[in-house]
Amino acid sequence: MSTTDIGLVGLAVMGQNLALNIADHGYTIAVYNRSPEKTNEFMAHCKANEPSHERLIGFADLSEFVQSIKRPRKIILLVKAGAATDATIDALLPHLEKDDIIIDGGNALWTDTIRREKDLSAKGFEFIGSGVSGGETGARFGPSLMPGGTAQAWASLEPIWRDIAAKVDPVTGAQLSGAEPGKPIEGGVSCTAHVGSDGAGHYVKMVHNGVEYIDMQLICEGYSLMKNMLGMNAGEIGQVFEKWNQGKLSSFLIEITADILQQKDPADATGDTWFVDKVLDTAGQKGTGMWTAANALELGVPANAIAEAVFARSLSALKEERVAASSILKGPTLPFESDREAIIEAIGDALYSSKICAYAQGFQLMKEAEKEYNWTLDFGTIAQIWRGGCIIRAAFLQKITDAYSNNPELKNLMLDSYFTNALHDAQNNWREVIALAVRHGIPVPAFSSALAYFDGYRSAVVPANLLQAQRDYFGAHTYERTDEPRGQFYHLDWPQTP
Ligand code: NAP
Repeated sequence: MSTTDIGLVGLAVMGQNLALNIADHGYTIAVYNRSPEKTNEFMAHCKANEPSHERLIGFADLSEFVQSIKRPRKIILLVKAGAATDATIDALLPHLEKDDIIIDGGNALWTDTIRREKDLSAKGFEFIGSGVSGGETGARFGPSLMPGGTAQAWASLEPIWRDIAAKVDPVTGAQLSGAEPGKPIEGGVSCTAHVGSDGAGHYVKMVHNGVEYIDMQLICEGYSLMKNMLGMNAGEIGQVFEKWNQGKLSSFLIEITADILQQKDPADATGDTWFVDKVLDTAGQKGTGMWTAANALELGVPANAIAEAVFARSLSALKEERVAASSILKGPTLPFESDREAIIEAIGDALYSSKICAYAQGFQLMKEAEKEYNWTLDFGTIAQIWRGGCIIRAAFLQKITDAYSNNPELKNLMLDSYFTNALHDAQNNWREVIALAVRHGIPVPAFSSALAYFDGYRSAVVPANLLQAQRDYFGAHTYERTDEPRGQFYHLDWPQTP
């Protein structure tokens, strides 16, 4: 007899935590993992430690797992993205019946999700690609959930997804905290909504990750300026971040940065070493930032700051080359002679302005993707979903929701009056910080490319007139004239160069 409300395949860190979250909300959940020993270990752990363990039922046999789930079945996949997801779907298929729903919560490439949705719908099944953000803790106590798929499939999944998602205060938008095993948060607004058809959910999750890359890079550049230009130690910089977390920059990433910077190295018994100074300066990446930047290039969207954040990680990975080059390529060695407190404030302004530009790029990219992939995206709702549970959660996101609610057709976030004013107020400081960084030879690629985006976007005329003339000169690519209507193309008979 089918007795479970939902099933989950993939019992690594995300799957285990999401299964517990679902059980904590009163649902009975069947769990399965390709390697059965992991299921056994998980079930033993739950029995000993988890208040909701009776609602978790482990299976070693895939057919029995599927048969245990009430129809139409809802089966969540939290397995490695890519070939493992296809292999898991192929293994499930012989056991499924019409209208059963597979929900892929992995970090799938949205084009894979479009393909899978098409294949499965042709076979009579539903497929939801759902972004899941917030890492291990989010999965356990409330992630941000970004589901795609058909409206019919969403209607079936919605009650569970709304229950397990992060909750925010309906007025302030701040995340509600305090959940414990067996005691989930009651009330609040859920950080989930139907994002759009087929791959829309995974696309929005990808852009979320691209924005996460640039948010983190901007913070690192602020840290680097305080460390390398102002000569502050990690603890002092941590206190600045703590203060910033009380104001307009308030966000999860600023909050954890304050904690990280004030952490001492547990390996040093003297207590004199800051932990962050012992962490090697090479950053890893799993590909979602690169996908975002690559898609921006494909769609012709100027998401240069997001791309810079990906390149900054690539440059960080060249550790040996950088160490060798540091003794050959010399930069300036200037003492810092300005007002330290004023510059710290200016760095905060540079961070905030650059963040506005980065989000403007992310939303501009989604706007273009909406047209390209035939989705209908609600940008205010997307910002709302990101207010809780996920890594980029921030008070700032409420301003984005407000901007799209004031004008759903907004072409660019920077044109919303709140953001326009914020950029106007901060830009002198922003420019000063970048100029200082350049003079001191401290790289700030994300700050500078965000400013270049701002300056480029607000320029009625850019030097592409010369560029187009060059193209016409060497390749007869034609040009339009400023004194003729758009859409009429001309070619000049250029003199032949020898
Ligand atoms: P993971 O390390 O990405 O994947 C491990 C799971 O995939 C295990 O259940 C493993 O089964 C299964 N698996 C691997 N290869 C397989 C194959 N060829 N066939 C069938 N199953 C296979 O686990 P995770 O970190 O928990 O992430 C799960 C998904 O969530 C991923 O798509 C990830 O990108 C996404 N995600 C992760 C995070 C995070 O913070 N970790 C956040 C958001 C989203 P075995 O035990 O049998 O090897």
